[in-house]
Amino acid sequence: MSLNPKRTVAELKELRALTGDENGAQRVAFTPVWVRTRAWLREKLRGLPVEMHTDAAGNFWATLPGESEKALVMGGHMDSVPDGGWLDGCLNVMAAVEILRRINAQYHGKPPITIRLVDWADEEGARFGKSLFGSSACSGALDMAEARALKDRQGLALPDVLKQVGVDFEKVKDSGRELKNAAAYLELHIEQGPVLLDLDLPLGAVLGTFGVERHAITFHGQAAHSGSTPMNRRKDAFLAAGRMSQEIYAITDRNGGVCTIGSCTTKPGIVTSVVEECRITLDQRHLDAKALARMLQEAKEAGERFAKEGNVKVTWERIWRIEPRPFHPALIELCDAAIKETAPKSYRLPSGPLHDAAETCGAGVPTVMMFVQSLHGISHNKIEDTKEEHLELCVTAFDKLADKALKWIQKS
Ligand SMILES: [Zn+2]
Repeated sequence: MSLNPKRTVAELKELRALTGDENGAQRVAFTPVWVRTRAWLREKLRGLPVEMHTDAAGNFWATLPGESEKALVMGGHMDSVPDGGWLDGCLNVMAAVEILRRINAQYHGKPPITIRLVDWADEEGARFGKSLFGSSACSGALDMAEARALKDRQGLALPDVLKQVGVDFEKVKDSGRELKNAAAYLELHIEQGPVLLDLDLPLGAVLGTFGVERHAITFHGQAAHSGSTPMNRRKDAFLAAGRMSQEIYAITDRNGGVCTIGSCTTKPGIVTSVVEECRITLDQRHLDAKALARMLQEAKEAGERFAKEGNVKVTWERIWRIEPRPFHPALIELCDAAIKETAPKSYRLPSGPLHDAAETCGAGVPTVMMFVQSLHGISHNKIEDTKEEHLELCVTAFDKLADKALKWIQKS
């Protein structure tokens, strides 16, 4: 029995019919539809000689034991946002199911290394506003105090909701033992952006997930009458903030990455007053930690310069940050090679959004992702789609990557 990518497409359609409605996918984590989705997934795996269990964080694992305990792990997430797309997360899992079938047949039930499939719990964080729950519990990065206090819109606490699906919140980090023998982690995902679409390419090798620096910058000037205050006597907080908006484009020209000033508020905020206080937010992202640090440093220097020139003061406040997670160089090469054997061309690109792969990478497991083109470049929406031929292509390419990774693990 060989790989059958058409079957993956058929199964994804079957899943859509079972768990979606006219508004899109409804597989929100820990809900009855999600539980039903898991049962369906188990059914799909039943014909294989795999051991199946749910770990301490509610992640689902299927294991095909090999001659070595060293494991190749392939994963994704069956949960979706409400009214979500039909491919985000489940394409990854269903491709892994098909590859498990191929490997099982090829090695007559006993591959040289262990092959594992994981369906991470609550990747989306749609209900509690905290994404990567299952994978961050498993990697050890989950902030227990923060997660313990999370509530959904109805006021239900995360620990209570977890109890309903048989998960003891205080023990979720015990799931970390699942990664003990993990020698590589592979994840296929729909791109969720327009990069491959604009290049007219079906597949891309993902270099890692962006690091993020998110800050609020406040300029402090002086309110003054807009008629009686000569231009040279003003302490205009908005003037300095406005100069920052030009400068952040120059900063990305020099360093790469992306920067956004996403909000701007002024006080007193009336038409007849010079702005006394202007608060802007800055979101900077880069795959390279040094470049990200340089971008932040340049923004801080620019802020000081514009404040001084405008005779105002500036203060910074960090809102959030995360380190870049560059994927494993050898696995990126294998991913690139697998794509080139399948499609006319490969392309390497960073991931703007975070994925479960960022957590396995952070836990020290050699990790790589493969992206497939997203039509419209849109995700978390019922219009999310990928051409059927590209879906088949990505299963084929991902299978080649799995084969290469298996041999890479065997050698190491
Ligand atoms: Zn996803």
